Amino acid sequence: MDKSVLVIGAGVAGITAALELANSGVPVALVEKSPGLGGAVASYCCKATDQCNKCSVCVANQKMEELRSATNLSLFTNSDIEKVARSDGAFQITVTRKPTYIDDDKCVRCQLCAEKCPTTPSSIFLPPPHSPLQSYVIDLDRCVHFQGKKCKLCQDVCPTGAIDLSQKAREENLQVGAIVVATGFSAFDPTRKKRYGYGAHPDVITALELEEQLRIAGKLSRPSNGSQPKQIAFIQCFGSRDAHVGNNYCSRVCCTYTMRLANLLKFKLPDSSITIFYMDIQTFGKEFEQFYQQCRQKIQFIRDIPSHIQQDGNNQLLITYQDRKEGKVVQSNFDLVVLSVGLCPREDTEKLVELLGLQTNEHGFLKSLSPLQTNETEAEGIFLAGTCQGPRDISESIAHSIGAAEKALAYLGAK
Ligand SMILES: Cc1cc2nc3c(=O)[nH]c(=O)nc-3n(C[C@H](O)[C@H](O)[C@H](O)COP(=O)(O)OP(=O)(O)OC[C@H]3O[C@@H](n4cnc5c(N)ncnc54)[C@H](O)[C@@H]3O)c2cc1C
Ligand code: SF4
Ligand code: SF4
Ligand code: SF4
Repeated sequence: MDKSVLVIGAGVAGITAALELANSGVPVALVEKSPGLGGAVASYCCKATDQCNKCSVCVANQKMEELRSATNLSLFTNSDIEKVARSDGAFQITVTRKPTYIDDDKCVRCQLCAEKCPTTPSSIFLPPPHSPLQSYVIDLDRCVHFQGKKCKLCQDVCPTGAIDLSQKAREENLQVGAIVVATGFSAFDPTRKKRYGYGAHPDVITALELEEQLRIAGKLSRPSNGSQPKQIAFIQCFGSRDAHVGNNYCSRVCCTYTMRLANLLKFKLPDSSITIFYMDIQTFGKEFEQFYQQCRQKIQFIRDIPSHIQQDGNNQLLITYQDRKEGKVVQSNFDLVVLSVGLCPREDTEKLVELLGLQTNEHGFLKSLSPLQTNETEAEGIFLAGTCQGPRDISESIAHSIGAAEKALAYLGAK
């Protein structure tokens, strides 16, 4: 049997599985569809205050660092799995490497391309410092040239001729003995709940955008006018536990990431007032329960999920909610509202299901063999790792991926 493994997806789950396998002496092909590595976590901030608050973002960053020096591992970024065929106990895989359009040997890191790019943020950029990929990349979903427009500004301005937007994709064939699927999740699309004003009011943002702003700028400002927010609200269960949007399940991670983010904001902005609107708090563990009790000392928790957000004439966001203790309807003003978006199955899950002969579960995530066998699938030799199988935080995704790597090794008889 072929003893190599294909890992699909280079988020924290895929990177962990790939490292476990490669360190066990098994050749690994790690295929990632986007130009960068790390998945969702690559845009998260560290949530330490004067002490570590165990958000695990640094642990994920460490995994990305480890990938730099990994041997036994071929990395295919900006690549798609096109075909999967099975014969003689092995998988034949066709991978399309999309062009990078940038010759890193010629690039002198002058940033002119990023400065001239008309999109916000720039579609051509250097990945974050902790990313193992340290060459300029183009986000094809954002770049207007690849949406059929005439822009070639980056190519024209590049002083060394490093950019060639006419490059073509090329196919490569791989043969592997097993597959680990680590394709992750999609965050809930906030435009699906129009009454909360996402997209209409600039100061209604998602927790992903808050994470990114804190990671890049290290501080928080209101998108509408750049001022420092003083009244900040978080709305929990956004797109989770909600039959109206077809997601009845709890996303498991948003109570904890919200509390860590709220605690960090209170630390950075001690004069701010922070309110969390919630249904129930899922703390998953005794240690986090203590952190929750500490948060209650400095953050206001209101047990109600507001049904909508309005904007008043003074650029303030107005939230109407039920005060259950007083038994009355109350209105409060905020200058920034954060939607705590849940974890959903990826939109392209069906394509993957067809390609690999997998199934989805009742929530649309990839289906495992049984509730107790969450790495195994009904397809022989194919294993699941991380949030593609269901909501998990970083440490749970890492543990799940180590399990997937062990199952793949056992299947190959390499353990
Ligand atoms: C707003 C927010 C904040 C969070 N904050 C925290 C936190 O502070 N601490 C914490 O523990 N958890 C946090 N989480 C949860 C955390 O994001 C997940 O646990 C983690 O990202 C799971 O990693 P993953 O590798 O399973 O998935 P992902 O991060 O989604 O990575 C999947 C990767 O697979 C790639 N991919 C997908 N399909 C394909 C394909 N067909 N071919 C090739 N590649 C593919 C994707 O491009 C991506 O790079 C947060 C979640 C949210 C929504
Ligand atoms: S082609 Fe235009 S939009 Fe695309 S990366 Fe270059 S400058 Fe940006
Ligand atoms: S303009 Fe050219 S040389 Fe300068 S950073 Fe961009 S790709 Fe590199
Ligand atoms: S983790 Fe908390 S915010 Fe997220 S869906 Fe569950 S109860 Fe709601």
